[in-house]
Amino acid sequence: MLLRTSVAFAVFVLVLRPGTVSECAQEPCTHIPHGSGESLEGFLHGGACQASNQGYIMRWSQYTFHTHAIAQGWCEHRSFPCPTCPCSPLQPPHDRNERDVISVGLGYYDPMWPTWLNPISPIYSSTPENHDLDSRIPGTSSPPPDGRGFTPYYVGRYALVQQSNLDPTACNMTPTTVQWSMALKSVDCLPTFRTQPNGTIIRVPNDATRVSIVAPFGPTHPITIAIEAAAKAWNAALVSWGESPIFDETAQTTLCTGSQGGHCVNVVIQHYPDAPLVCAAAERDPGGEDGIVDNNARIYIRPDYSTDPTYLRHLLSQELGHLLGLDDAVCGINSVMSGIAACNSLGTPPTVPSSPTPSDALPVADTSYGPGSRATCAGWAQ
Ligand SMILES: [Zn+2]
Repeated sequence: MLLRTSVAFAVFVLVLRPGTVSECAQEPCTHIPHGSGESLEGFLHGGACQASNQGYIMRWSQYTFHTHAIAQGWCEHRSFPCPTCPCSPLQPPHDRNERDVISVGLGYYDPMWPTWLNPISPIYSSTPENHDLDSRIPGTSSPPPDGRGFTPYYVGRYALVQQSNLDPTACNMTPTTVQWSMALKSVDCLPTFRTQPNGTIIRVPNDATRVSIVAPFGPTHPITIAIEAAAKAWNAALVSWGESPIFDETAQTTLCTGSQGGHCVNVVIQHYPDAPLVCAAAERDPGGEDGIVDNNARIYIRPDYSTDPTYLRHLLSQELGHLLGLDDAVCGINSVMSGIAACNSLGTPPTVPSSPTPSDALPVADTSYGPGSRATCAGWAQ
């Protein structure tokens, strides 16, 4: 019975609709999207270095911003008439449209804007440029085939942002975009940090209790005045970057007690035993696993010190900088961590600043006490 019914149906169709297009002509032929793997990366190159997220870059230097954008989707496009009848997902596609990256927009946040960490809607919009895949590889992008120039003009926190736009394909896959951002800190002096072998930065605590500095010399003594000026200057510089003030701005008159732990620094006028010729030195315990100093610290000042207030303020500011985790620097006037040619003079004109600069305080706020990277990139000279 089954066999006879089938034969009868076939005969029926053949007789009533001879010469027309196939029976599936009115069925909608569908577009079938595949894949969604879209990605966008950015790379900031300067000289031999590559800047990393949350890292430090030199102001006024030249960098090249590269991008790598990938689209992995495609769309099967079945159009009328179907290649064979009937339309079916099991059939091979009539056409296939690859997705492609058709443009990449680049922008950056000016560091004066507080919303710099928001990864979208760059303040400086830029005309999208056509990129294909990887601008680090010549010939795979246009334009610009060799990346795009970038120079940070301010000390501060930059965010580089990119957005890629993906081809919707000829069969109307929804257009999509991928966004990406990199946070960078532009400074006039690339920081180095004093660290434990386990990598933690050795620094005094920054919690609800301020760190006291002991000056048992009387309130009008030049070292007392310098201590209070240095503490005030560091606090102000840290607050300007969003960090809490760390030092007590009034010198403590009695020696540190053991219970003050890492929240107290004695200042003594004597040669540093390990290196008697240095102008001053900061000594503290290594801070244990977390790097946070646990016991009273000590600052040595060589007995033949100059009472010049500017000189003493530099000396104390640098030693407090060491207690905040910074190492010595070779940045001249751009960093209070810079060395001087000889004790008792800052040079004429001064070759180093007498107070912490914004470039000194930013790494303390963001890396000593924050999640910032320790990576640095010097860029190309202008
Ligand atoms: Zn030093």
